[in-house]
Amino acid sequence: MTETADAIVVGGGLAGLVAATELTDAGKRVILVEQEGEQSLGGQAFWSFGGVFLVDSPEQRRLGIRDSHDLAWQDWLGSAGFDRDEDHWPKRWAQAYVAFAAGEKRDWLRAMGHRIFPIVGWAERGGRGAMEHGNSVPRFHVTWGTGPGLVEPFERRAREAAAKGLLSFRFRHRVDSLIVTNRVVEGVSGSVLEPTSVARGQSSSRNEIGDFEFRAQAVIVASGGIGGNHDLVRQNWPRRLGTPPKRMVSGVPAHVDGRMIGITEAAGGRIINHDRMWHYVEGVQNWDPIWPGHGIRILPGPSSLWFDARGNRLPAHLYPGTDTLGQLQHIMGTGFDYSWFVLTQSIVKKEFALSGSEQNPDLTSKSWLATARRATNKGAPAPVEAFKSKGADFVVRDNLADLVAAMNTLAGSDLLSHDHVKAQIEARDREIANPFTKDVQVIGLHNARRYIGDRLIRTAKPHRILDPAHGPLIAVRLNILTRKTLGGFETDLDARVFGNGGAIVPGLYAVGEAAGFGGGGMHGYRSLEGTFLGGCLFSGRVAGRAAAKAVG
Ligand SMILES: Cc1cc2nc3c(=O)[nH]c(=O)nc-3n(C[C@H](O)[C@H](O)[C@H](O)COP(=O)(O)OP(=O)(O)OC[C@H]3O[C@@H](n4cnc5c(N)ncnc54)[C@H](O)[C@@H]3O)c2cc1C
Repeated sequence: MTETADAIVVGGGLAGLVAATELTDAGKRVILVEQEGEQSLGGQAFWSFGGVFLVDSPEQRRLGIRDSHDLAWQDWLGSAGFDRDEDHWPKRWAQAYVAFAAGEKRDWLRAMGHRIFPIVGWAERGGRGAMEHGNSVPRFHVTWGTGPGLVEPFERRAREAAAKGLLSFRFRHRVDSLIVTNRVVEGVSGSVLEPTSVARGQSSSRNEIGDFEFRAQAVIVASGGIGGNHDLVRQNWPRRLGTPPKRMVSGVPAHVDGRMIGITEAAGGRIINHDRMWHYVEGVQNWDPIWPGHGIRILPGPSSLWFDARGNRLPAHLYPGTDTLGQLQHIMGTGFDYSWFVLTQSIVKKEFALSGSEQNPDLTSKSWLATARRATNKGAPAPVEAFKSKGADFVVRDNLADLVAAMNTLAGSDLLSHDHVKAQIEARDREIANPFTKDVQVIGLHNARRYIGDRLIRTAKPHRILDPAHGPLIAVRLNILTRKTLGGFETDLDARVFGNGGAIVPGLYAVGEAAGFGGGGMHGYRSLEGTFLGGCLFSGRVAGRAAAKAVG
C-alpha cells in the first residue's frame, strides 16, 4: 500500500531533522525515511564535535575578539575561491549563510536550548594574505554537549511532532529510487531492511525483507555525502590534490555511502562541484573503532613540528591548524599518503584535542568540573592519553634517536634520518628564546598566545622540543582521513534542485551535505570550519520552510 504525506525527507541526519521539523511546525505531515535503525538518528552530527561558525557572537566579544560580517565575508571569499560558472548559486548560498551566522543563527538555536562552551576555538588560521584562506579571528563555537547537544533540540522537536501524528519515522527503510512522472518528483520507493540491534554508528546489515512506496508533493534529499565510500572519494579526487591516497582512514560511519546521490541524479538532479571535498591530514587510527576503518582527527594546537614521510619539515605556512587543503596538497605531492607530528608531553597535554563527541566526554556530558580540568590537569585529557598508549600511530620515547628509530619501524622503512630530523628541530629550538624570531611557526605561537582562549587551553608555553623537562618526546603518524563532500546538488535559494537542462526539477529539494551544504557547494574550495553543521542547519531550515509553503 502506498502511504502519502505532504513531504518526504530522505535521511535522519541533522539536515533532515531540521527540514522535517520546520515542515511539521508549519502543520505539514512528513514521512522521514532513514535506512539505519532508530539508534542512529542524528547521523554524523551526533558524532561531531558540535563546532559551529558564528560571527560577532557574545562569546567572541567576551574574549576580546572583534569580528564582523564584513570580516567574515572577506575570509569566506578568500577561502572559497569561487571561480566557476557553476558557483553562481553556491556563492549566493554563501552570502545568505554568512548573514545567517552573523545574524539570526545563535538566537534561533538558543531559543531551542542550545548552549555554547565559552572559549571560542580558532580553526583554519590561514597564514598567507588577508584576502586568502583562513579565519582572521577565532569563530569555532563548540556546542555545550558537543554533537549530541546540537542534535537534541531537533530530535526533541521531531519526536513531539511524531507524538502529534504529524511526523512518521520510517527507520530501516532505504530509498532505492525516486518516483518521477513527467519530470515531476512525486515520491520515493525502496527496500525495507531487516531490523538491526547494532550500536549507533556501527555498520548494519543490508538484507531486505520487503519494499515500500511513499508519495508526497515534496521530496527533500538529506542523505549526506560520500566520505564513507573510499571508491567514490577516489573516483572524484581532484587532480589539483595529486593522486588519490592509497590508504585512508574513515572519519565517517559507513552509512555515508553516497548511494542516494546517484539515485537522485538518475531522477534528474544535477550535481556540481563533485571534485571539491574536505579531507583531513591529521587522522589517526582509532584503537577502539566503531565503524570500519574508523579514524579520528586530531584538532591540533599550533606547536607540533610537522614532517613529511622523508623527515622534511613542512614549509611555511603549513603548520598545524592553518590550511587543511594546502597541507593535503603538499603531502600528496611528496609521493606518500602520511606525515608526522613530533612534539612533547607539554604540547600533547595542552594542544591535542580529538574531534568527535565520544572523544570529549567532559564536554559531551556537560560536566563543568571535568571540562575545567583541561586547563589544570597534569596529563592530557584521558582519551588523548589512551591514544598515546594504545593508538597504533603513536610513538613515545625519551630521546630523539630512539624516537626516530621507532618511527622508521612503524613506517616499515628507513626513510627518516636521525641527523636530518635533529638538525631541523635544533634549528627551530634556537628560535624559541629569541623574541625577534624568523621562524614563522614560532611567530605564530607568540601570536596565538595573545589570544586568551589559546593561552588557557590551546597553546603550550613555547619551549624547546628537545628540552627533557618537557618530555617524553612523542611522534604521531598522520593519515589522510575522509570526511566531507563540498559539492552536491545545485539548488536555488529555496533548496529546489536544478536538472541538467537548467530548469528546476519540480518536487525535489536537497539539503545538508548532499547539497554541498547549500546550493551545490557554498564553501567553494575550502571551509572555515564549523560551517558543515551550520550549513545543515541553514539549508534544512530553508528547505523545510520553502517546501511547507509550496505544498500549500
Ligand atoms: C566525527 C565528526 C566530527 C565532525 N565535527 C564537525 C564540527 O565540529 N563542525 C561541523 O560543522 N561539522 C562537523 N562534522 C561534519 C558534520 O557532522 C556533517 O557534515 C553533517 O552532520 C552532515 O549531516 P547530513 O544531515 O547532511 O548527513 P548525515 O549525517 O550523513 O545524514 C544522512 C542520513 O541519510 C541516511 N541515508 C542515506 N542514504 C539513504 C537512503 N538511500 N535511504 C534512506 N536513508 C538514507 C543515512 O543513513 C544518514 O542517517 C563532523 C563529522 C564527523 C563524522
